[in-house]
Amino acid sequence: MKKTGPVEIVKPKNLFEAVEYVREGGMPLAGGTDVFVRIRRGFWDPPFLVYIGELPELRGVEIRDDGAEVGAAVTHAELLRSELSRRLPIFKLVLEKLGAPAIREMGTIGGNVANASPAGDILIPLYLLEARVNLVGPDGERSLPVEEFVLGPGKTALERGELIKSFWIPFPEGKPRAYFHKVGRRRALYIAVLSLGALLWLEGDVIREARLALGAVAPTVVRPRGVEAKLRGRRLSREDLEPLCAELSAATSPITDVRGPDWYRREAAGRLLLGLLRLR
Ligand SMILES: Cc1cc2nc3c(=O)[nH]c(=O)nc-3n(C[C@H](O)[C@H](O)[C@H](O)COP(=O)(O)OP(=O)(O)OC[C@H]3O[C@@H](n4cnc5c(N)ncnc54)[C@H](O)[C@@H]3O)c2cc1C
Repeated sequence: MKKTGPVEIVKPKNLFEAVEYVREGGMPLAGGTDVFVRIRRGFWDPPFLVYIGELPELRGVEIRDDGAEVGAAVTHAELLRSELSRRLPIFKLVLEKLGAPAIREMGTIGGNVANASPAGDILIPLYLLEARVNLVGPDGERSLPVEEFVLGPGKTALERGELIKSFWIPFPEGKPRAYFHKVGRRRALYIAVLSLGALLWLEGDVIREARLALGAVAPTVVRPRGVEAKLRGRRLSREDLEPLCAELSAATSPITDVRGPDWYRREAAGRLLLGLLRLR
């Protein structure tokens, strides 16, 4: 483990200055719930930190007709209290299970996504809603679907000098029912051993359309599109869902780590599908 000394923090006046500092090699600092932990443990040793948590360009939740723009420095608690969580309950379900109140008050959406952890909770609603990640850098702005932004554990499409500016969350058609279940090693304040989020469009008890997102069972969050397609037209019943459990397991490629073995994750992922029965 590397030894780290005090690290300098710069506070840019605006987004332009922030990009300049990051281009020079500074590490973005938002809520610091990951940055400070990793620096203290000696895993990261950045030349300096660039505090972006209060930049007005990265703050705020703006609701429009067809979707919402969420600033990268919006905290989990702010998003939980926002109109967006009322409008899209999948955010409420996920955010209530993310860390503890203190972590939710400090940690940001941008920080969670930039971490690109397969267990990053906020990625579940972003994958389900097919959100876009808006980036700003020395060459201007660009936008990517979240599935193209996250490349692997800790790996993103961010290029040198780039920051996440905001997220575009398109509103889905109709009123899908939302489901989220996170399996952990204890009852509160845990990182997912695995998780399943879902949006289901139901007509009576028949599934018209389904989107699923699995967390912590592969290098990135997974949308098992084969299973989603097979759910269409099925009833929300044990008899109709059970045959798809093995296929959902097969869509995973888990690893063994401190939180759980690969075989458990693979097996349990399939069984999580039956949790959708709670939406009956
Ligand atoms: C006790 C504890 C419990 C936790 N529980 C959970 C949990 O249940 N679920 C979960 O998903 N996470 C959990 N976390 C992890 C963490 O809190 C979240 O990932 C949080 O959202 C990180 O946001 P932050 O603003 O604190 O990020 P920071 O620590 O400020 O930054 C994290 C990383 O993102 C980069 N970054 C930040 N903002 C940007 C930006 N706008 N553009 C580009 N890069 C950026 C930073 O440079 C750094 O690499 C927990 C952490 C702790 C300490």
